[in-house]
Amino acid sequence: MTVAEPHSCRDMDAAVSDEGVALVYRPRYREYGIRICESALGMVRQCRVGPVDEAIRMMEILDCPWCGDALPGSVRDQWRDLIFNKYEVKSLWSETETFDQVPAKMLDETWWREVEIGFTNTDSNLTFDQVSDEIVNSCRSTPKGLEKPLGRSPHHCEAMMASLEDCRELTQYRPWTREYGIRIIDMNRSVHLQYNHRIKPIRYCPWCGDALPQSLRLEWEARVRDLGLDPDVPCTPYPEGLPDDLISDTWWREAGNKIAAPLP
Ligand SMILES: [Zn+2]
Ligand SMILES: [Zn+2]
Repeated sequence: MTVAEPHSCRDMDAAVSDEGVALVYRPRYREYGIRICESALGMVRQCRVGPVDEAIRMMEILDCPWCGDALPGSVRDQWRDLIFNKYEVKSLWSETETFDQVPAKMLDETWWREVEIGFTNTDSNLTFDQVSDEIVNSCRSTPKGLEKPLGRSPHHCEAMMASLEDCRELTQYRPWTREYGIRIIDMNRSVHLQYNHRIKPIRYCPWCGDALPQSLRLEWEARVRDLGLDPDVPCTPYPEGLPDDLISDTWWREAGNKIAAPLP
């Protein structure tokens, strides 16, 4: 068997190397994920709790959000199997203790390259219809930095809906531009205090691999400019100072087929 290499494409490489994008790659487990904050309520702490390969809370993703390719898959089960059975570690509660008992190669990607673990991602056959009018919202009473816009997500596989409905997960759907994205955050401040939301837009669902509806950003910006307004305003999480129908999906749902990029 040949080893399954980590995924590489322009956007993924850029996201992984940019600490501000709430997406991480953990070489030890060959896992990609979207960060999860520590708590849903006021006591949200800074997202990062250690170096990238340590105890970061994240939701594993299975498909590249930018090119749609299946990711190689996590080797965490195999890692745990070796840790518990071969190296006879009793508990993972104390990472320091654990790390004293295992060879250094278990702490990075060396071990799975040696063992040559192929693809473990078997989740490429999920399909979902996209006719949803399901409302994404459960985050309105949360701190402003974690609040997500209220809207009917056109893509609504179970994993995406669960992620959008959890305010701690740094994913976002923007009904006014029909964009999905991963939050860009300032790693030196608590996320719940970051009111001006910025996102790195994604093109494919990170969990089922389906293409997401095409972004309507250009059309939206044109409409905002037609009113003599600037589309480049803070999103907190809604764009500030714009009329109601341009901070929701009303404008493009009403325009229906007249919009250049219809729902898939
Ligand atoms: Zn990719
Ligand atoms: Zn999906």
